[in-house]
Amino acid sequence: MSRSFSAPGRVNLIGEHTDYNEGFVFPAAIGFFTTVEITPRPDRTVHLESEHYPDTFSFPLDDSDARARHSWTDYAQGVALALHHSGYPLTGANLSIRSDVPMGAGLSSSAALEVSCGLALAAASGHAISRLDLARVCLEAENEFVGMRCGIMDQFVSTHGREDSAILLDCRSLEYRVIHLPASVRLVICNTMVKHQLAGSAYNERRRDCEAAARQMGVRSLRDVTAAMFAESSAALPARAQLRARHVIGEIERTERAAEALAAGDLTLFGRYMHESHESLREAYEVSCAELDLMVELARAQPGVHGSRMTGAGFGGCTINLVDAPYVNQFRREVAAAYREATGIIPGIYVCRAVEGAHEITT
Ligand code: ADP
Ligand code: MG
Repeated sequence: MSRSFSAPGRVNLIGEHTDYNEGFVFPAAIGFFTTVEITPRPDRTVHLESEHYPDTFSFPLDDSDARARHSWTDYAQGVALALHHSGYPLTGANLSIRSDVPMGAGLSSSAALEVSCGLALAAASGHAISRLDLARVCLEAENEFVGMRCGIMDQFVSTHGREDSAILLDCRSLEYRVIHLPASVRLVICNTMVKHQLAGSAYNERRRDCEAAARQMGVRSLRDVTAAMFAESSAALPARAQLRARHVIGEIERTERAAEALAAGDLTLFGRYMHESHESLREAYEVSCAELDLMVELARAQPGVHGSRMTGAGFGGCTINLVDAPYVNQFRREVAAAYREATGIIPGIYVCRAVEGAHEITT
């Protein structure tokens, strides 16, 4: 008997590059899903196939020396291994994966893949795993097996997403607050359709810069540095560390305030914080690119737009835009035309709903 499990991608409204600094993020799970159909096997093998790739892969559950192959299969294999040594022994299974989460666009197809596979493997082996444990196991897989040192945001929101809401997550305590999105606006995601070379290496490099800045300031992470402390002590930091820390410290405070503004229904103020976030990512964290800046500029010129900023790690991928519902069609038409005119690239424009996190599909 086969069963199916789905996990959503996500978009981050504000709070970029703050999760691995133990700060706040404010993402929503969105209506793009990765779905895994799982069928038990009598042996101790896991077999993987994905609609997106021609190659399939089988691995034994008992191989404690398994190494990443630098393939799409690493995400699922990493999750199986992490489940296994986190106290969720697994049984053999065939996994068949399909997805409509745009890949490599900053909407976290990787977490959707990890979480859907993790939930499927755990459930098929008879384990009830909590959402938090599932998120932790998937993060461990991406950090340790895949080798991408991302923070917990993606896995957390793919497991904890809530309908029509965004999640204000404290990445230090993992306490979170569900904030309902005003019914008058839509989350509109603009995909630049570019991904620059730097994307992978720059991420780990930024993370190292932040850790070095925290060490030099004598704190555990940049979360511990207030704006006042930074004003007093930042002069001692090297120029690059100063810039990186300035973004992170400002963004952590901005994210908490922005979530408050949204909870109070103040879309204008929320939009202002989104703009500040983009500027800070562009100037201080230096992770934007010409296509993202252009997409933001085009969006800001449209009527009915409260805020626009790059979302995800940067160097390409997507922007997130908060648009009044009656203006969404015009936004889509005009931004797409202007972006194409300027770059020759047809962008992806997705009008999204915030959805529930990972779950079994019951028919
Ligand atoms: P993002 O998470 O922003 O989409 P990443 O580079 O972190 O970008 O993850 C994308 C990678 O995840 C893909 O290159 C592929 O290896 C893997 N992946 C995501 N979705 C799928 C899928 N449905 N099938 C197979 N591999 C997938
Ligand atoms: Mg990813």
